[in-house]
Amino acid sequence: SMPTKTDVLEQIEAKGVDFLRLQFIDILGTVKNVSVPAHQAEKAFEEGIYFDGSSIEGFVRIQESDMRLDPDPDTFAVLPWRSQRGDDTVSARLICNIIDTSTGEPFVGDPRYVLQRAIDRAADMGFELNAGPEPEFFVFEKDENGRATTETHDAGGYFDLAPKDLAQEIRAEVIYTLEAMDFEVEASHHEVAQGQHEIDFKYDDALTTADNIATFRSVVRAIAELHDVHATFMPKPIAGINGSGMHTHLSLFEDGENVFHDGDDEFSLSDTAYDFLGGILEHAPALTAICNPTVNSYKRLVPGYEAPIYVAWSDVNRSALVRKPAARVPAASRIELRSPDPSSNPYLALATMLHAGLDGIEKGRSAPDPVRENIYEFTEADREARGIETLPSTLGQAVTALQKDDVVLDALGPHVSEKFTQAKTQEYTEFLASVSQWELDRYLETF
Ligand code: GLU
Ligand code: MG
Ligand code: MG
Repeated sequence: SMPTKTDVLEQIEAKGVDFLRLQFIDILGTVKNVSVPAHQAEKAFEEGIYFDGSSIEGFVRIQESDMRLDPDPDTFAVLPWRSQRGDDTVSARLICNIIDTSTGEPFVGDPRYVLQRAIDRAADMGFELNAGPEPEFFVFEKDENGRATTETHDAGGYFDLAPKDLAQEIRAEVIYTLEAMDFEVEASHHEVAQGQHEIDFKYDDALTTADNIATFRSVVRAIAELHDVHATFMPKPIAGINGSGMHTHLSLFEDGENVFHDGDDEFSLSDTAYDFLGGILEHAPALTAICNPTVNSYKRLVPGYEAPIYVAWSDVNRSALVRKPAARVPAASRIELRSPDPSSNPYLALATMLHAGLDGIEKGRSAPDPVRENIYEFTEADREARGIETLPSTLGQAVTALQKDDVVLDALGPHVSEKFTQAKTQEYTEFLASVSQWELDRYLETF
């Protein structure tokens, strides 16, 4: 059963918690914290903690700035990494919902609320989304001034006879920490690129998974920091090698049964799954703005690095946008969306994916045939013949696609749509006006 605030207060007492970090996330996916002494916990639950929303990017205007943090007792967790190192100050966190104090209602700009709305819509249709992410990240050295570089700490590790692999140690500590925070870690491995890692944790309902992704990113960054290296979820820190994705496995359950499974189908997928998939493919261009929200995201979505660029699905190859992984048991039937990257806001990403899929179900979209060849090798004529579209190739194109897609805009709601579009248009405009090293290398001495 779900923990109540009384349970949490008991735990705070029992575990000797000194500080509570009240956590929420802004529209652009940055985790924010308000720290309060643990003796304020009861007050935090009874009255909420007030803060000035105008100081948070994309939240509200100055004149309507009073917001209240409402801690969700289900998200209580002691942050273990300090005490693992002998620090006796105990901190715990609670993830909060944001309440608009002028109405007493959930704040429409709270990404957690945006996801809650998607979950409620699914529930009205009888469904619960389960989502399992595969976040990838790089670990880099710092320079003598303590600033992050793009030098991988395991560069040259191939010839390195040192018995200790620092990356292995960091990964082990991350996993240990996650497990202390009740994560079920399923797999962890060195990725294809140098300095790149992946840690997968068990799928869960959408809200828990979004909370978990936010927590995961904080844990990885914090543990790397303690080892004096920098972990980054930037999608493509180094040109010419794989970037970092956050593949997301999706399935719908109804009364505890996986409704994506149909044992009689060639790919073991049900009509519901095909309709959901059809919705994802239809809304893929607009979803890209949310799932790939930075200028740098589009440096990852290029051919040749195991990242998708074409709107298609496949049961066999990894160049497609959606893959149907083999499932050993019916409960594991799912689809894997391969476009999301770990710079995305996990709440908005899962909310928009869910709405896109539900739209496919409502409209009975179904899905085209899978593509079983390597799509990277298709010519434009091949793709045209099969009606395979291309994902947006810049943040600018993605924002334009978002602005044309009412289903995804509705998923975000008018407030978040407007703030998100404004922020991303500005980001892209700044990028267009910047001059990159590539241009200097190419043109400075040529002209
Ligand atoms: N790193 C690849 C990407 O950018 C994915 C590699 C994999 O299949 O895990 O999505
Ligand atoms: Mg991977
Ligand atoms: Mg994968």
